[in-house]
Amino acid sequence: MNIALIAHDNKKDDLIEFVTAYTHVFQQHQLFATGTTGLKIMKATNLPVHRFKSGPLGGDQEIGSMIAKNEMDLVLFFRDPLTAQPHEPDVSALLRLCDVYSVPLGTNMGTAELLIKSLERGDLKWRNVIKEKEDDNNE
Ligand code: PGA
Repeated sequence: MNIALIAHDNKKDDLIEFVTAYTHVFQQHQLFATGTTGLKIMKATNLPVHRFKSGPLGGDQEIGSMIAKNEMDLVLFFRDPLTAQPHEPDVSALLRLCDVYSVPLGTNMGTAELLIKSLERGDLKWRNVIKEKEDDNNE
């Protein structure tokens, strides 16, 4: 599965802690992240991460483009609800696309925990069916 990992600055330590705790799950999947989040995860866990641009420089939109192509299977976006972000429109657009394409989305550690346990159990295999349909439509 393709998993997007994004965290606002005040939430980066939480996400790193989370990915570290579930390294055994994340190592079985392809990880994508915005620039700074991805760099910190790679340094802390040694997991390979495909890094896009930093969020404020377009990274959220790059991940959004994968969602629009049904290429992202799970999004963990640890948002900071207490700090205004200069790229708030990009953040909203990313969340909106998750809803458009019914992509599982966790915006805090509580939900992320549930999603990762579901992933581990194989509950997200339905995403493969969606992707196969998408591939058929593109042929
Ligand atoms: P960053 O971007 O990982 O480059 O900090 C995250 C964001 O703020 O959207």
